[in-house]
Amino acid sequence: MMIVMREGASEQELGSVIAHVESTGARAHVIRGEVRTVIGAIGDREPVAGLALEGHAGVDHVVPISRPYKLASAELAHGDRTVIDVLGRRIGGEHFATIAGPCTVESRDVLLEAAQAVKDAGAQLLRGGAYKPRTSPYAFQGLGAEGLRLLAEARQVTGMPIVTELMDVRDLEAVAEVADVIQLGARNMQNYTLLAEVGRSGVPVMIKRGLSATLEELLMASEYVLKEGNPNVMLCERGIRTFETGYRFTLDLMAVPVLKELTHLPVIVDPSHAAGRRELVPSMALAAAAAGADGIIVEVHPEPEHAICDGPQQLHTDGFADLLRRVEQAAELAGKRVPAAV
Ligand code: PEP
Ligand code: MN
Repeated sequence: MMIVMREGASEQELGSVIAHVESTGARAHVIRGEVRTVIGAIGDREPVAGLALEGHAGVDHVVPISRPYKLASAELAHGDRTVIDVLGRRIGGEHFATIAGPCTVESRDVLLEAAQAVKDAGAQLLRGGAYKPRTSPYAFQGLGAEGLRLLAEARQVTGMPIVTELMDVRDLEAVAEVADVIQLGARNMQNYTLLAEVGRSGVPVMIKRGLSATLEELLMASEYVLKEGNPNVMLCERGIRTFETGYRFTLDLMAVPVLKELTHLPVIVDPSHAAGRRELVPSMALAAAAAGADGIIVEVHPEPEHAICDGPQQLHTDGFADLLRRVEQAAELAGKRVPAAV
């Protein structure tokens, strides 16, 4: 249930409504808008409905939240959009941001070269995996702790915030020390214990859509993080599995406008993992921006021919700046503000 307070309702009236809601065992989630305050009653609907809060002092009206996800729902946000501020880089609302870097942290030289190049090209955040989810257990699994150390160095040298994947809850503390955004990969989208732990960590999170997950399942995953009190969640469309074999995954760009109807959370698109080969990445990056995405995450490498993983889909650092300018133009056409070039 969503309890919309009257314009100018007093703190005392608000406190009283919260106390009533909590007396049923539900949790009161307070959202202070510019004009009105809204309280989301998160829990069993019936006992809250039984409070007949319409008649309570300061309450304007009460509306049920029809979706199974509550905190993630656009209904609860009442038109407001979540804007995530990562060390001054803003994502969501009218802000468009680019996350770029190599698939994995391979070596100090490659990481620092890639980081400097994507920064010079105008990307805001640096990506790179220290822990890699690989289909084969015999494939390179990432540098682990050493990879995190190198990411910390890249962050120090370039000043760019870091986006890196967490796969195992046992690594949370170490990853959270370096990550400005924790990435939860497609294969972990429904790892509910991991989602909840990351929720408790308070570090901003990017949840990638599972290979065969519906949008509702993706939103329910975000609810696990939000429920723990971490509001800084972004969603990422990275391609889903369909019958088509002409490319690695089908990039579901319809997810962008539909997610924006359903949720206030920022929506990022990953054209690299969907495409599987770099020739397809520019057109899909442009299309994502034009579709209204709040940002893109894209793999860029100084020498993709020699990359340890995902070589065929990684863009060359050369030429990345030109692509980014065009992506930003597309984002502007879709009504976004892009950060001023550095
Ligand atoms: C990645 O971004 O490094 C990655 C492994 O992506 P996904 O989880 O979408 O496959
Ligand atoms: Mn990759």
